[in-house]
Amino acid sequence: MRPKVYITRRIPESAVAKLRESCEMDMWDETDVPVPREVLVDKIQAVDGLLCMLTETIDEDLLTRAKQLSVVSNMAVGFNNIDVDAATTKGILVTNTPGVLTETTADLTFALLMATARRIVEASDYVRKGNWKAWSPMQMTGQDIYGATMGIIGLGRIGEALAKRAKGFDMHVLYYNRNRKENAEKELGLEYASLERLLQVSDYVCVLAPYTPHTRNLIDKRELSLMKPTAILINTARGGIVNEAALYEALRDNKLWAAGLDVFEQEPVSLDHPLLTLPNVVTLPHIGSASIQTRTRMAELAAANLLQGVSGQMPTHLVNKDVRGLTDRK
Ligand code: NAP
Repeated sequence: MRPKVYITRRIPESAVAKLRESCEMDMWDETDVPVPREVLVDKIQAVDGLLCMLTETIDEDLLTRAKQLSVVSNMAVGFNNIDVDAATTKGILVTNTPGVLTETTADLTFALLMATARRIVEASDYVRKGNWKAWSPMQMTGQDIYGATMGIIGLGRIGEALAKRAKGFDMHVLYYNRNRKENAEKELGLEYASLERLLQVSDYVCVLAPYTPHTRNLIDKRELSLMKPTAILINTARGGIVNEAALYEALRDNKLWAAGLDVFEQEPVSLDHPLLTLPNVVTLPHIGSASIQTRTRMAELAAANLLQGVSGQMPTHLVNKDVRGLTDRK
């Protein structure tokens, strides 16, 4: 019997075709609207595999309704939308798509940093609104990037790719992880620092750690107060890592120069969110990995993980390596 799989959003045809070859496949056929919870609750009951996005909350309640589910394949490297412990207890594999989005997300992080530092969005609006009456010496002045100091919180795959870009701009790069990465220090000329020191000396603080119970509000009022008033915070990881209320106050009170945010605690961010009222905030709709090539690669990798999961193989990108029954897989 062909395994049954459900896909929670329309994904590129190359990935769909792979699944169609060997699975009985059903898909929420919308590009912009997430699958409603009640549809997901209904679909999960009779499938062997689920390919989902970060817009779906795969919690214990949902997993409990699944009768024959063997794998949840997330089309993202982050998996904070999935209750991995609950999946592990139920013997359900969880997979993600690391690596294929690394360079594209590092590109976007650096682009957001540049846009924020040099006030690109604000300056473009300034012209379009007819405010450009004359050239003047200090008009729309921003912060220097070349030769500045960058602090990376979470020097993983994307963090390292960002550090390489920073080195091209002759930046001094510090990083904070729970574990030191001495090879990366030597190869890229990076400096390991405590979180406090990183915050105190960096001109740009870039958040690239995963969202976990340990990183929730990792950057809060105290941490923001350690940053220089000329410093810029860039978050392309996950919204909940930075306390948004504290960030708003720091920016409003000129204790921080600007912020570039690709992610929010609640997405899509509400139009009346206080951060959207500030001119020194550049906001994006969670587009870190959004290039045509990378999103296609992510969909294909998520499909491959799903296929391995439903056909008794060991998925290449397994998140819960302690799930039972792994030794029976090839
Ligand atoms: P990764 O290779 O796993 O790197 C994450 C790094 O964070 C690791 O080096 C880890 O080092 C560090 N870390 C973990 N917990 C930490 C903590 N409590 N304090 C400080 N550092 C910590 O992951 P990646 O592929 O680079 O992706 C990073 C994150 O970016 C993902 O989890 C995802 O949420 C986000 N992301 C966002 C987008 C977007 O569209 N905006 C796209 C892709 C990824 P230690 O274990 O040594 O601490």
